[in-house]
Amino acid sequence: MAQNIVIIGSGFAGTWAALAAARAVGEAAAGAVTIRVVSPQARLCIRPRLYEAVIDGMDPDVGPLLAAVGVEHVAATVTAVDVDGRSLDLRDDAGGTRTLAWDRLVLAAGSELHRPHVPGLAEHAFDIDQLDAAERLARHLAALAGRPPSEARNAVVIGGGGFTGIEAAAEMPARLRAALGAAAAVRVVVVEQAAAIGPDLGPGPRPVIEQALAECGVEIVAGHAVAAIDADGVTLDDGTRIAAATVVWTGGARAHPLAAQIPGQHDAWGRVHADPYLRAPAAPGVFVTGDVAHAASDDEGNVALMSCQHALSLGRVAGYNAAADLLGLPLHPYRQPKYVTCLDLGPWGAVYTEGWDRQVCLQGAEAKALKRDINTLWIYPPPAEREAALATATPDHAIVP
Ligand SMILES: Cc1cc2nc3c(=O)[nH]c(=O)nc-3n(C[C@H](O)[C@H](O)[C@H](O)COP(=O)(O)OP(=O)(O)OC[C@H]3O[C@@H](n4cnc5c(N)ncnc54)[C@H](O)[C@@H]3O)c2cc1C
Repeated sequence: MAQNIVIIGSGFAGTWAALAAARAVGEAAAGAVTIRVVSPQARLCIRPRLYEAVIDGMDPDVGPLLAAVGVEHVAATVTAVDVDGRSLDLRDDAGGTRTLAWDRLVLAAGSELHRPHVPGLAEHAFDIDQLDAAERLARHLAALAGRPPSEARNAVVIGGGGFTGIEAAAEMPARLRAALGAAAAVRVVVVEQAAAIGPDLGPGPRPVIEQALAECGVEIVAGHAVAAIDADGVTLDDGTRIAAATVVWTGGARAHPLAAQIPGQHDAWGRVHADPYLRAPAAPGVFVTGDVAHAASDDEGNVALMSCQHALSLGRVAGYNAAADLLGLPLHPYRQPKYVTCLDLGPWGAVYTEGWDRQVCLQGAEAKALKRDINTLWIYPPPAEREAALATATPDHAIVP
C-alpha cells in the first residue's frame, strides 16, 4: 500500500520540503510513496518583497514545478491536525470538507502578522503580511489623490521599526509622491516602542539605517508605542497625536495557529521546538519547518529566525527527513551556521551584514545590487524542469554561499 508524505504549505519551506522529499524518494527508487502538498493555491507568495511599490507577480505558480517532480498539489486549507489518528481535516474553496491521511507530516504553514490588542488596529491599520493585504494598501495609496489635501492625507505612520517596518518606511516617501504628485509635502513616521530603530538588528547596522531613513525623509519616533489607531491617525502612549490617513502595522510575526495543534514545547512566538532532525519530539511522524519551527541552527546557541533564508534550508531538511524516516534511511541534522541580513533602504540603497552580530559588509548601491539579486533570483522557486529542480534539493545545500 502506498505510504503518504503530506506537506502543509507551499511557501518557501513547503515547496523545498516537497522537492527534497521527491529527490529522496526518487533516489531510493521507492515507487510506493505519494507526496502531497496541501495549500489553498499552488502558489508561493514572495512575502519578503511585499514592502515594494510594485507587487505584481509576487506569487509564482508552483503547480507545474510540483507536477514536474511528481508531487501532487491538493487545493485546500487544513483546519485541523489529528496527530494520533495521522490525518488532517481539509476545507476547500467551495466549503467542502474531507480528511487526508498521512504517514509522515511536514508542517510548513508559515506565520501571521502579530496583531496585539491596540484599539483601532483591526479596523484602521493596513499591513503587508500577505499578498491580498499588500494589494489593499496599494489600492488605498493610489486612491489618496482623490481625497481633499490635508496633513493626514499626505502622511503615513509605520507601526513597528523592525526589519519589515524599516523596509516599508524607506519606500514610502516615493510611493506617496507617486500617488500625490512630486511636489506633495509628504510625511512618513516610523514608531518603534524600543529605545532605538531595528531593535532586533542590533547596533551594527543602526547608524547606516538611521542615516538612510533620514536621507529618504523618514522620521523615527523611538521609545514610544502606538496606543490607538483611528481613521485619521495614531495616538502614542504619551498622548502625542500623529495625523495620518494611512497606518501600516508591522508588529512582528507569530507562528501559524496550526503549530498550537502539535503537542510539545512551543516558544514565545508559538513555534514548535524541533529536535536536530526537525521532528516534533512529542508528535511521532510530524516534522516542523520554516516559520513554525524553533530549531537550533548551530552549536553556538543560535536559533533559526522566521526568515526566508532559514525557511529555504529548514524546508529541504524537513522534506528530506520525512522521506528518509519513511524509507528507513539515516536522517540529516539541520545546521545553518552562516547567517546574513540584507535590508532594503529604498532609494538610498541597502545594508548587508554578516554574522549574528551583524557586521556591516556592504552598504548603499553595492548592497542594493545584492538585495536585487536576492529578491529577484535567489528566493524564487526553480523552473518546472525535473532535473534542474532537484539539483539543489539536498538537505546540505548552502543557501548563502
Ligand atoms: C513584509 C515581509 C518582509 C520579509 N522580509 C524578509 C527578508 O527580507 N528576508 C527574509 O529572510 N525573510 C523575510 N520575511 C520572512 C519570510 O517571508 C518568512 O520567514 C517566510 O515566508 C517563511 O516561509 P514559510 O514557508 O515558513 O512560510 P510561508 O512562506 O508563509 O508559507 C506558508 C504556506 O502555508 C500555507 N498555509 C497557511 N495556512 C494554511 C492552512 N491552514 N492549510 C494549508 N496551507 C496553509 C500558505 O498558503 C503558504 O503556502 C519577510 C516577511 C514579510 C511578511
